[in-house]
Amino acid sequence: MKVRVLGCGPSNGIPSLSRGFGLCDANNPKNTRTRSAVLIETNDGKRILIDSDPEIRLQLIKAGSPHIDAVIYTHGHYDHMGGADDLRSYSQEKNTSLPIYLTKANAEHFKELLRYLFKNDNQSHLFDLHIIEPYKPFYVGNNEIIPIRQYHGVDRTDPNCLSMGYRIGNFAYSTDVKEMDPKGFELLQGIDTWLLGVVTTRENNKHIHLSKALEWIDYIKPRQTYMTHMGLRMDYDTLCKELPESIRPSYDGFEFTV
Ligand SMILES: [Zn+2]
Repeated sequence: MKVRVLGCGPSNGIPSLSRGFGLCDANNPKNTRTRSAVLIETNDGKRILIDSDPEIRLQLIKAGSPHIDAVIYTHGHYDHMGGADDLRSYSQEKNTSLPIYLTKANAEHFKELLRYLFKNDNQSHLFDLHIIEPYKPFYVGNNEIIPIRQYHGVDRTDPNCLSMGYRIGNFAYSTDVKEMDPKGFELLQGIDTWLLGVVTTRENNKHIHLSKALEWIDYIKPRQTYMTHMGLRMDYDTLCKELPESIRPSYDGFEFTV
């Protein structure tokens, strides 16, 4: 399976409109980060997109405008879903509905965002929404995908506090996560490569920060971890110097094989 990090930036991207590059070296192109999304090409040739951030169109053009077989969402925040309208292009091209996998709550976010495409009956011929549930595997082609419940904050009673991580074979994508329940950690056991959202080096109320990420990595022990969703304190070269080879920052357009 081939994984391409389409974007590895935080919710405002880097440079951000108000704070520029922050502590990141503006001269290193790897520190210019669009919002986070991932493209996976499975061994049976399926292309799965995880999230459609506001820059998804340009990210996919840079990736060679590949056809997409399915889209999966982590959660409904603008920086992960805001580019959804651009996905219409795939349905129009083949005159079919693009399969979209997401939780019930995120389906509501999706329809709200594209209200003008979802008519009174709440249906759109462009998108085929499949409702998924945490820990209930689903398939795209021959590939089993396990949704992992994540807490995108500490208030577990808040429905907006949920996000989904995904395990596909020996690869897992976990971003916008602050806490994980024990079952989540159990399902991550044995992965080879982990793409993990680490927004900052300081305590943050919605995301894990670097030292917590290192604890999790030490517990799960993947062969290789790449970081994504990295913010203004996460300078590429500094992280490479400070961390072992088995933990690397990613960058926009970075590809790896699992
Ligand atoms: Zn988020």
